[in-house]
Amino acid sequence: MKIGFIGLGNMGAPMARNLARAGHEVKGFDIAAPCPEGVECVGSAAEAAKGAEVVITMLPDGNILRQVAAEIIPVMEKGAVFLDCSTVDVESAREVARQAEAAGLRPLDAPVSGGVGGAEAGTLTFMVGGSEEAFEIAKPLFEVMGKKAVHCGPSGNGQAAKICNNMILGVTMIATCEAFALADRLGLDRQKLYDVVSTSSGYSWVMNAYTPAPGVGVPSPADNDYKPGFAAELMLKDLRLSQQAAEAVDADTPMGQRAAELYEAFVEREGGRGRDFSAMLPRFESRRRRG
Ligand code: NAD
Repeated sequence: MKIGFIGLGNMGAPMARNLARAGHEVKGFDIAAPCPEGVECVGSAAEAAKGAEVVITMLPDGNILRQVAAEIIPVMEKGAVFLDCSTVDVESAREVARQAEAAGLRPLDAPVSGGVGGAEAGTLTFMVGGSEEAFEIAKPLFEVMGKKAVHCGPSGNGQAAKICNNMILGVTMIATCEAFALADRLGLDRQKLYDVVSTSSGYSWVMNAYTPAPGVGVPSPADNDYKPGFAAELMLKDLRLSQQAAEAVDADTPMGQRAAELYEAFVEREGGRGRDFSAMLPRFESRRRRG
């Protein structure tokens, strides 16, 4: 396929590289990052988009997505797929999809989970919103860049699935770290807590597959001095998106709101920026209930 790829950062570069390796013709553009191996570098987003059957964007946020969409929608071929893989707010995803549809394009919002490791290994999971028809066209590309793609419904539903998942993840991480910190104060060995919880009703992906305590459970960023992994500021971004969406549709999400507040304090005032999101455990460890 002829593919335009816009946004060649930590995630975009390995995704574009995997598409080129699989034999697709990829034209890439980024305002700052270099083009990865196998990708033809062009001078603008419009140039990358012109003549492409599928245009993929992997950008930092909804405002930048809207700017890039305004540049590329007018030059894209009718019927081409506009596949946005960035994590953005539901409203921007739906607005960009409306504009793309009005121009005769096929929009898909397809945020990913799996991080940089998943992007490099081609094992991402895609959560996809948009038409069945567009999903079928993009399927072979999902198969190159990832191991699973779930069609979640109409435009915006991919982003909705992503922020709901990550709201659960943020809340669960905090709950698990709180429990380890409480166990410490109660004189309960962390390994024993893990042995019980990982096979009891408190088990979770966080406890069982991303254990936030160093030396306990499976290897995780906790065993590497909390180097990300999944950085705390990215978790904060996703929690903020979940609260923005909850506000817009009047949904009551008190735990998600509290998780967003805690990650905001951690990232902006407590030295959490650049650390893995599981570094909430040393944060709780160093704090007391009263002052
Ligand atoms: P990144 O900052 O490394 O990459 C974004 C790239 O977009 C940068 O290279 C930047 O120069 C480029 N860019 C910005 N404005 C542009 C423009 N107008 N035109 C062209 N390029 C432009 O970020 P990332 O880690 O690759 O993340 C990309 C998206 O994927 C984000 O929405 C993020 O939330 C999401 N995501 C990231 C991870 C992760 O672990 N890094 C995991 C899942 C989802």
